[in-house]
Amino acid sequence: MTAATEFETANSTYSSTFSKGDLALPPARKVAVVVCMDARIDPAAALGLSEGDAHVIRNAGGRSSDALRSVIILQRLLGTKEIVVVHHTDCGMLTFSDTDLRGIVKEQTGHSVDHVAFLPFKDLEESVREDVEFFRKSPLVLDVPVTGYIYDVKTGRIDKVE
Ligand SMILES: [Zn+2]
Repeated sequence: MTAATEFETANSTYSSTFSKGDLALPPARKVAVVVCMDARIDPAAALGLSEGDAHVIRNAGGRSSDALRSVIILQRLLGTKEIVVVHHTDCGMLTFSDTDLRGIVKEQTGHSVDHVAFLPFKDLEESVREDVEFFRKSPLVLDVPVTGYIYDVKTGRIDKVE
């Protein structure tokens, strides 16, 4: 049994009582949340979001530059007027360097990924500040409120990074 076949079973239950088929395409709360892909975080539950409320963009680390393509689409085509960045404690991105991962890929595949920035970081607060600044300063991003948080995987709390 693969995870995919388990999903099919779970989804038949889910879709049998599904009642949110009439939501609008633009996000009701006009906000984009950029958050790490970490499996321990449930952004909807942690931030009080329901279907149709917001776009949640997830990637390794919740890095802004990786989310830029999606943010441009949201701002220019879907009316998104606010951005929230969420990184978290115990993030895997704190545990390796570009050099480490490039070495692993090269060794295991024979291919060089020296041109790929995997965007790991050494300082959690600093990484949030960097990603908030990235959106604030990007000429491609509209001038909207950008707020950064650290989510604590032990307590479920978010703390704002000033
Ligand atoms: Zn993470």
